[in-house]
Amino acid sequence: MRLRSIPLLILCLWGSQVCGAAGGLTATSSSPHVVLRSVDIGAVRWTQGFWARRFESCRDAAIPNMWRLLADPNTSHAYENFLVAAGVKEGRHRGPKWHDGDFFKWLEAVAFVYGMTHDEELDRQMDRIIETIAKVQREDGYLHTPVIIAQRQGPSASSEFQNRLDFETYNLGHLMTCACVHHRATGKTSLLDVAKRAADFLCARYKTAPRDLANNAICPSHYMGVVEMYRETRDPRYLELAQGLIDIRGLVEGGTDDNQDRIPFRQQTRAVGHAVRANYLCAGVADVYAETGDPSLLEALEKIWCDVAYRKMYVTGATGALYDGVSPDGARNQSSIQRVHQAYGRPYQLPNVTAYNESCATIGWVLWNWRMLALTGQARYADMLELALYNGVLASISLDGREFFYTNPLARVDKLPFELRWSRKREPYISCFCCPPNIVRTIAEVAAYAYCVSDQGVWFNLYGGSVLDTRLADGGAIRLRQETEYPWEGTIRIIVENAPQKEFSLFLRVPAWAEGAGISVNGARLHENPKAGTYFEIRRAWSAGDRIKLLLPMPTQLLEAHPLVEESRNQAAVRRGPMVYCLESVDLPDATPIATVAIASDTQFRSRFQERLLGAVTVLEGKARVFAGGSWDNTLYRPLSAQESKTIDIRLIPYYAWSNRGPSEMQVWLPLR
Ligand SMILES: [Zn+2]
Repeated sequence: MRLRSIPLLILCLWGSQVCGAAGGLTATSSSPHVVLRSVDIGAVRWTQGFWARRFESCRDAAIPNMWRLLADPNTSHAYENFLVAAGVKEGRHRGPKWHDGDFFKWLEAVAFVYGMTHDEELDRQMDRIIETIAKVQREDGYLHTPVIIAQRQGPSASSEFQNRLDFETYNLGHLMTCACVHHRATGKTSLLDVAKRAADFLCARYKTAPRDLANNAICPSHYMGVVEMYRETRDPRYLELAQGLIDIRGLVEGGTDDNQDRIPFRQQTRAVGHAVRANYLCAGVADVYAETGDPSLLEALEKIWCDVAYRKMYVTGATGALYDGVSPDGARNQSSIQRVHQAYGRPYQLPNVTAYNESCATIGWVLWNWRMLALTGQARYADMLELALYNGVLASISLDGREFFYTNPLARVDKLPFELRWSRKREPYISCFCCPPNIVRTIAEVAAYAYCVSDQGVWFNLYGGSVLDTRLADGGAIRLRQETEYPWEGTIRIIVENAPQKEFSLFLRVPAWAEGAGISVNGARLHENPKAGTYFEIRRAWSAGDRIKLLLPMPTQLLEAHPLVEESRNQAAVRRGPMVYCLESVDLPDATPIATVAIASDTQFRSRFQERLLGAVTVLEGKARVFAGGSWDNTLYRPLSAQESKTIDIRLIPYYAWSNRGPSEMQVWLPLR
């Protein structure tokens, strides 16, 4: 019996089926190698402002809409596959092999929202669904509808781990993560019991056939899943399994850069191959490090992270530049070159129109940075988390929560003389449905990232109107209220509503772009100036009624890219606060090709909040010049001549809000002339 379980058990007996299970999205409260620990699901409640609106739209529109898609066999076969595999309905498996995982991601979003709202209808809906999922599970814990449906129709028809592209461990990983969230949110063990049997199945498989698991670690969500199961149950076998799963990656025969298993993880120094897989892998390894403290893991993680952050990430926080490519590209030893897809490219290879940037890859980057932040307490990881959430992740979903981007380019031109695999506009349903439920669960769960606690006090990672109700490490209850119009305005007010009778610290994140921030406590300005790119610590004995005001300057900044980012040379991206902006052709005079618009490097943009535009956004207004483009028919090069130009007013909108007003050209990087 684990110590932590005893009081829970008593609560369970007392409160019938529902007990007071707790824990954060990543339950790091007992993790020995983290600096920052998660707060419980439900400890943060959005009250007003940006994230409150996004959460409401996720709860009221995106989640119910997605259930209709997932439960309609004429659109998606995700839930139908479970019904067929459970023997409740006749039929066959349809949809991609990873469809189970898609469904678990959506269910995780529902569980998290329930944890924040305690909406009983959601609870009943989850109960019904979990009953079906449990019926699918085989005696030995295996749960994967494509194989189970085939086995129902003929026991010899199929067996597990026959094809690494069956995504079994990916599906099982999402089941485990979802089950942990469900247990923490509801206190019910119905799905956790299923996930335990699934984890036990992997443990047994690891003992008897480790190569099966090494070969089938495609898009490894199960590293995160298995560690989370260890955190939830404290069963040491699960932690051993997670460690082993990382070690056996070196055993793969014919490993690839695309799957990050050509060489053992600890030898890796660069981000290569499929970006979702790479980011999921690193997030899972960070989880293992949080529990084991194996320094060789952190060393590799930091090297790969630097490769992404300083050489391979877009200004929007999106990652995975290439549709298709090879690795290592241009290698002297040509027999070493392999194909990669939806992948990291070479350093600084960041095309804009053809940027792949799968939504799941940006989410993987969020998951990875969240864990790096917990391990280190360093603000640079929170900066990345915030950048990716406001720009990369939010752009992947329409403002009404019903349409989704699979890929996230930084420019769109009308006339593209070649086909790309995925739609260049958001779609209500995508045949590969991995991204939409991943986006929905991520938006539902932003509250989980907003605050952390440590032995010293409370950490503010993301700003937004909210109430935090939690306990410090020693059990002292604390309640803080935050009021702000961030990210549109830089004033953040924090009111202490309840605090333990002792000294502790509040750590306020000052983003790297916020030079010249100021802080006051109870109206008195602090002498020390907070440094941008750090957490600023205020330590004192707090009492109810204390007020803190953080003032972040919100300058509109023109950004330039490293000179080796060839596709963004002599161009500027515009950023205000954490928001990256873009120009859309619907905001230009009729029939102006977006490529003919340029700005001056000293352009001054004025910010203006527009309540009625795009769900309420701050736009940037300024001057630009439009150059007569002339015809490029049968022309690849032409003499440069002085071109006529005229000055126009332009309006930039936040990148995340683009493509919500019909077809439009778009650019993040604007030419400088
Ligand atoms: Zn995806």
